[in-house]
Amino acid sequence: MNKTQIVIIGGGYAGVITALRLAGKDRGKRADVTLINAVDTFTQRIRLHQLATDQPLRQYPIPRLLGKRNVNFVQGWVTDISLDQHTVQVNLPDGAARTVPYDKLVYALGSIPATVNIPGVAEHTYSVGSREEAAALRQRLQQVEPGSRVVVVGGGLTGIETVTEIAEAYPQLQVHLVTAGAVGEKLSRHGRNYLMKVFEMLRIGVYEQTRVQAVEDGALVTADGQRIAFDVAVWGGSFVAAPLARAVGLPVNARGQILVDPYLHAISHPDVYVAGDAAAFVTQPGAPIRMACATAMPMGTQVGDNLLAVLNDQPQQRFHFNYFLQCISLGRDRGLVQFVRPDDTALERTLTGSTGALVKELICQFTVRSMQLERMLPGTYTWPGKGKIPVDAPHNQPVSEPVQHI
Ligand SMILES: Cc1cc2nc3c(=O)[nH]c(=O)nc-3n(C[C@H](O)[C@H](O)[C@H](O)COP(=O)(O)OP(=O)(O)OC[C@H]3O[C@@H](n4cnc5c(N)ncnc54)[C@H](O)[C@@H]3O)c2cc1C
Repeated sequence: MNKTQIVIIGGGYAGVITALRLAGKDRGKRADVTLINAVDTFTQRIRLHQLATDQPLRQYPIPRLLGKRNVNFVQGWVTDISLDQHTVQVNLPDGAARTVPYDKLVYALGSIPATVNIPGVAEHTYSVGSREEAAALRQRLQQVEPGSRVVVVGGGLTGIETVTEIAEAYPQLQVHLVTAGAVGEKLSRHGRNYLMKVFEMLRIGVYEQTRVQAVEDGALVTADGQRIAFDVAVWGGSFVAAPLARAVGLPVNARGQILVDPYLHAISHPDVYVAGDAAAFVTQPGAPIRMACATAMPMGTQVGDNLLAVLNDQPQQRFHFNYFLQCISLGRDRGLVQFVRPDDTALERTLTGSTGALVKELICQFTVRSMQLERMLPGTYTWPGKGKIPVDAPHNQPVSEPVQHI
């Protein structure tokens, strides 16, 4: 029997768990599974603000994470996809180019910081979006003089985690957060009060309702004409999907995410599955899906299950997801666990302080541990809301985000 060639591009949270679920349950019977990733070590992206502040992170080589699960790992940079010919082009570390054919493709290339539309961001700011960027920030923070000004732009979860980590690790620096809205605006009243208390303890200055319009060498220029001086600027704003999807002609939304149906197929190409930050649902799967490890791993697992269903002539399942918690690190000593409704809106229930920090740390450990568990016992990984699809389907509600077709 000819085996189905399944190629997964992107070995982050979504791609690795897809490979483990699929290869672990198929056991090489019906599919050959190949995972392609730029580097051979798994990037714990949810800890990159820790890397930026010089904390040693445990390394997880991807081949070891995959174990003996019948996955062929290829280290290389994916440069192109031919959707007609069903091939992926990869640049290997030795400079050679390789063409990898597929019957089914899993696209899990994640996201990058959304900086393109603001002049000066690329030239003058650092980021924690990738391992290389976080390492460059680490080096810069180690060089600056005491009393230097660090500004972090972005009042969402990444900005909050980054600014608190820097302020805690470098108390000799003046650290500020700049945001277009309010800091942590989606938190409960109690959650936001706690956050502001921690900012005060860590002496973090806050500029709210301050939209950055341009970045110059040494200053942020805001929409109302202010200039906010800095020695180091960190872009912690929103993220967009990796650019390859748009470049190869897959239908994407305004953030470059591939439009997917409830089964996680690209709407234009049913042989292309999408998981993680790269995916945007055209109808809502139980909750609005934000770019998060918390959603990437469930999506990757569902893709693995759906591919297994196809291999075994079984019906595929719709993806369904509910939120439960938002966990925010505020340096190493404090954390904020915000309980949320299934749709991600905040409840007035939180865990704070060292308890919050402990829960957050355990959740970070859980991400890798659950991959290791999936490797040992395929089929174990699950998530809140899995399979709880109401008969009269909120799946039918269109997602309101603007859709941009190529
Ligand atoms: C500092 C920070 C803190 C965060 N904290 C949290 C948190 O607490 N909780 C939470 O839920 N989420 C958090 N997130 C978000 C979370 O990290 C992402 O949503 C998650 O990583 C998405 O998983 P993914 O598999 O889609 O992409 P990724 O984990 O980014 O994986 C994509 C992979 O594709 C590879 N790749 C990309 N392009 C190519 C190419 N052309 N060729 C080959 N390989 C390629 C990359 O190297 C990477 O390994 C945080 C993000 C950041 C930056």
